[in-house]
Amino acid sequence: MDSDSKHIITALQRLAMFWRANQWLVAKDFALNPTQCEVLTRVAAKPERAIVLADAFGISQASLSDSIAALDRKGLVRRRRDPDDGRARTIEATRAGTSLAERMPDAPAAMRDAIAGLAEEDRAGLLRCLSLIIRSLQEAEAIPVQRMCLTCRHFRPHVHSDPARPHHCRFVDAAFGDGGLRLDCADHETATEEEAARNRARLSAVG
Ligand code: SF4
Repeated sequence: MDSDSKHIITALQRLAMFWRANQWLVAKDFALNPTQCEVLTRVAAKPERAIVLADAFGISQASLSDSIAALDRKGLVRRRRDPDDGRARTIEATRAGTSLAERMPDAPAAMRDAIAGLAEEDRAGLLRCLSLIIRSLQEAEAIPVQRMCLTCRHFRPHVHSDPARPHHCRFVDAAFGDGGLRLDCADHETATEEEAARNRARLSAVG
């Protein structure tokens, strides 16, 4: 491994350690564990099927069921029959769950400040690189596929001549730049493998 890659890995390890420690602190404040916090936050934003949640968090159905059962016992989520599939259940937040999720910080204040302190083009470049790393990990089946632009059928990278807004989202029919790349978009619709590979190659090649 080259020296640059080692330094990047060290940086990612430091950030991961900080993030993990903070997740436990926040979860403790809300009398939950980090997975329960993530599940609650996700279903408060949009009700989801259990199988979608397990895939999104990269955990087993059994682990997810434990988290949902714990949230259910606390009156924070409920299961309802999926209108599109009578055998499936959708998990949604109750009013109390939504209220709790709204009070949860989405990131440590120190992390938000550090990112906000970056120049706009650095934030955009960082997001582009992180998107490509995450997509590579997904392709290696090391992490679950996320609702990100790179795997979305609406994503058209580098189709506009404006260097500040070269990409296009067909869902909202608007141009956007690297800083607008999404890693968890509620409007995401899964692209075919061919489309996703084309998106990745194009975003990598034109930087
Ligand atoms: S719908 Fe969301 S994920 Fe898809 S291209 Fe648009 S912003 Fe990206």
